[in-house]
Amino acid sequence: MWYLNEEREAILRTVREFVATEVAPQAMEIDASNEFPLALFKRAGELGLLGVSVPEEFGGLGGDQTTHALVYEEIAKALPVLTVAMGAHSLLAGGLLEMLGTVEQKKQYLVPAAAGEIIMACGSTEAVGGDNQVEFQTRAVLDGDEWVLDGGKVLICNIGVADLYVVIAVTADHVDPVTKAGLSAFLVPAGTPGLGIGKPEHKLGWHGSATGSLSFTGCRIPKENLLGPLGGCLQAMFVSATAEFLSCGPVSLGIAEGAYQMALAYSLEREQQGLALFDRFQVTRHKLARMWGEIESLRALVYSTYAERDRGELCLATGRLLKVKGAEVSEYVGREAIQLFGGVGTVVDTGVERFWRDAKVMAIGGASVEALQDVIAGLIKRKLA
Ligand SMILES: Cc1cc2nc3c(=O)[nH]c(=O)nc-3n(C[C@H](O)[C@H](O)[C@H](O)COP(=O)(O)OP(=O)(O)OC[C@H]3O[C@@H](n4cnc5c(N)ncnc54)[C@H](O)[C@@H]3O)c2cc1C
Repeated sequence: MWYLNEEREAILRTVREFVATEVAPQAMEIDASNEFPLALFKRAGELGLLGVSVPEEFGGLGGDQTTHALVYEEIAKALPVLTVAMGAHSLLAGGLLEMLGTVEQKKQYLVPAAAGEIIMACGSTEAVGGDNQVEFQTRAVLDGDEWVLDGGKVLICNIGVADLYVVIAVTADHVDPVTKAGLSAFLVPAGTPGLGIGKPEHKLGWHGSATGSLSFTGCRIPKENLLGPLGGCLQAMFVSATAEFLSCGPVSLGIAEGAYQMALAYSLEREQQGLALFDRFQVTRHKLARMWGEIESLRALVYSTYAERDRGELCLATGRLLKVKGAEVSEYVGREAIQLFGGVGTVVDTGVERFWRDAKVMAIGGASVEALQDVIAGLIKRKLA
């Protein structure tokens, strides 16, 4: 592949071995139990996979974004939800910490986070709508040397297992509808009195992501737990969200490849009247050829976009397109894979339908594809795409 080099291949070998020997054997069990993949997450930390692009001075590998993408793609082929937990930790919470944190804050939290010694979560979405920050209700008020948080968050990944929550709260009279000024980020350690942690939701897909609600009732944190400028965290939120949208490209690619490989193997093995389904039905061959084509087109888009990102030339619209296209392709391939299996494709123990369930959530978690299309349309109009 044109995007591989010696360094990236070395990391790829590590990830492939991790996936083959530790992740894949547990994937079905994690999907069935809905348990957060704690041991795998910690192991990913030991292998350096939680800090691929974190600077070396803060305990990371100091690698580029393409390397990050390769890691996510490989893991998603077997257990997409592990990349979701990693993304919430490294890209959302970790991204904000890296961009907004003081050196002390980074030493205290980013260094152990890169090694998987602590787990982080990022709480932004509220019941009024994930993209509707103007109506956010969670407020932080300064009282002497402490910030007091009141409000609540919904659909937050890594709850319960997280040691540190990066939380977005309103710190002004209102949030400016255009600039979104008035939002600030805070570091809330698990166990802080007044921080309530809900029960993980039972969802269609991403089983094991420990996604649920947080509540804040007179939750007091030290003044110095403000992360970044007061009322001005939006720019960093935008950048960390962009990293998350980008990562949906390789994760979706991995999901599609996982489903496609299963469908291909089944079509070559299962026989009817002495012929494999692949040889007996033209429609089966054509479906597989189209699935392959969609996967390869997505691969081209993913790695050319990541190359732009590594050169510092990322176009904001293409960054968002990765999430939109990735969700489309992984959902399509996941659906067709079930179809190619016939009846057994709908049986959970077969292990193919979970890829489609995970793909469906890709179109919503983090931001809905409709909201992203709207942003892309705005960029097109302003000739920024
Ligand atoms: C499994 C999972 C994990 C998640 N993890 C996290 C997390 O770790 N941290 C976190 O902060 N959030 C997280 N989220 C929340 C996620 O970011 C939101 O679900 C997402 O932003 C959509 O917001 P909403 O669910 O409030 O839908 P709403 O905002 O109510 O939107 C509903 C629908 O309305 C349409 N719509 C909404 N806004 C627009 C718009 N601007 N333009 C066009 N159409 C629009 C879309 O069709 C959308 O699907 C997670 C969500 C899920 C499902």
